[in-house]
Amino acid sequence: MSTAVTQSRSLPASVRNLVIVLGDQLDEESSALQGFDPAQDVVWMAEVDEESTHVWSAKQRIAVFLSAMRHFAEALRTQGLPLVYTRLDDADNRGTLPLELSKAVAQLQPTTLVLTAPGDWRVLQNLRDVAARHQVPLDLRDDTHFFSTVREFSAHARGRKQLRLEYWYRELRQRHGILMDGRDPVGGQWNFDADNRESFGKAGPQSVPSPTRFAPDAITEEVVALVNTRFASHPGSLHRFGWPVTRAQALLALEAFIEQRLPLFGKYEDAIWSGEAWLYHSHLSCALNLKLLSPREVVQAAEAAYRTGHAPLAAVEGFVRQVLGWREYVRGIYWTQMPDYLQRNALDAKSALPAWYWTGETDMACLKDALAQTLEHGYAHHIQRLMVTGLYALLLGVKPQAVHAWYLSVYVDAVEWVELPNTLGMSQFGDGGLMASKPYAASGKYIQRMSNHCKGCNYDPAKSTGASACPYTTLYWDFLLRHELLLEKNPRMAMQLKNLARLDQEARDAITAQATAHRQAQL
Ligand SMILES: Cc1cc2nc3c(=O)[nH]c(=O)nc-3n(C[C@H](O)[C@H](O)[C@H](O)COP(=O)(O)OP(=O)(O)OC[C@H]3O[C@@H](n4cnc5c(N)ncnc54)[C@H](O)[C@@H]3O)c2cc1C
Ligand code: SF4
Repeated sequence: MSTAVTQSRSLPASVRNLVIVLGDQLDEESSALQGFDPAQDVVWMAEVDEESTHVWSAKQRIAVFLSAMRHFAEALRTQGLPLVYTRLDDADNRGTLPLELSKAVAQLQPTTLVLTAPGDWRVLQNLRDVAARHQVPLDLRDDTHFFSTVREFSAHARGRKQLRLEYWYRELRQRHGILMDGRDPVGGQWNFDADNRESFGKAGPQSVPSPTRFAPDAITEEVVALVNTRFASHPGSLHRFGWPVTRAQALLALEAFIEQRLPLFGKYEDAIWSGEAWLYHSHLSCALNLKLLSPREVVQAAEAAYRTGHAPLAAVEGFVRQVLGWREYVRGIYWTQMPDYLQRNALDAKSALPAWYWTGETDMACLKDALAQTLEHGYAHHIQRLMVTGLYALLLGVKPQAVHAWYLSVYVDAVEWVELPNTLGMSQFGDGGLMASKPYAASGKYIQRMSNHCKGCNYDPAKSTGASACPYTTLYWDFLLRHELLLEKNPRMAMQLKNLARLDQEARDAITAQATAHRQAQL
């Protein structure tokens, strides 16, 4: 027997609101469901191929969305809400959101379409088009799963030459009274980075708590089988699927994080260790982005851990900075910059993404490890994304749009509003400095400092040329050489360019030759 919902109790004879619930809007309290009247409204949800194929989505990412959607639909059905739900394997599934929605609108003839603002510009345009084509009004509601609205971010951005996280973050802390003592930040300072961001040292991580994972139930097992068949050629595997796919599971994951990992979150937030995928991170991005959790409850739980003495201020501030700061900031960047943002390529990077990003088959130890866990779990922590996979693509000169397609495909938390600014802006400097004040360019020595990877690698992070030269180090100097003129204008690059100036012409030529050979070998 099928475990997923197709259609619930009988539908109203005449439909007032057709309430669209997208795969990343799985909250019964969402704005679109406010004022829902089961006597005259219907919820509409659809699984469609296009959302898994417009980028070559990894199996973990497809499965997490489908499983969470089916669980959410089940919860709505249990409450007796009228629901039209298209399954991926329904015979008459037309394969895209606009086509499926058009079909539903033609059948149900709703007076209004109701939608919480989606996380993806493409989806918003597509659904607006459907409403216009059918001449049905679209009631587009604010997404209340954020502390701020895009309008507030726009107002903050207006008149500023540069957009920087720090000012937005402070404004939000003040406005929402988070970690504040009156008008002042708790502890007398806004930022505790100096106390955070250590590496593990030689001994490595000690007694890292096991991650909170959830055994697949019947719904998830059915999804796993479907994904393994229908998307057999897609990257990654589903051997070990354990993501929270219901609100109850997400709450358990939050509780476990606060209890077990938060106290050391800040100290080790930038550290990497071979074979250790989870460390002291929260692994909550997926639940947050699916809207199984609200950032408010996450931030409140973290603040309470500080107030009760369970976690130190530096750890809590470091965590709050990610959720209240970065998460809200990148959303503001996305919605104020789209759609042009998608095309930006300030460094004129042209290379293709090496094919082994999709398989993990490389002899660079740091990349091999980050890619393996990405493909196995759909997860890598921030510094692996920024300073391992992202850094290599930046230094190699991969076209930002190709890097973007990869990140949007492989991570369980990938939704364009958050993925694109992080990838194209922060990691690839494709926006020319709108998001990051300088490119995150570093040599292999950074990875050596923050991890144990280099010890087990064929390459030497101290070398930029020769057979054992670390490709990161070669490409780092090559990056500075290729972009010297542009980077000279950036005062924050002064130290790195000063070091570059020490290289004589012979050294520069050798680096260029080695970088070119390395680049060609990746084609
Ligand atoms: C190239 C690149 C691509 C990324 N793509 C995504 C993505 O598709 N989806 C996504 O949610 N995050 C993305 N991030 C941000 C960050 O890496 C992930 O949010 C984080 O690794 C998720 O793991 P976690 O839940 O254990 O996070 P933690 O380290 O525990 O952080 C706590 C929470 O803070 C939020 N957060 C932290 N950093 C950021 C950030 N830079 N931007 C927005 N929110 C942040 C997340 O909600 C996260 O769950 C990306 C970062 C980079 C450099
Ligand atoms: S030597 Fe270079 S390629 Fe090898 S693990 Fe270190 S940084 Fe990565």
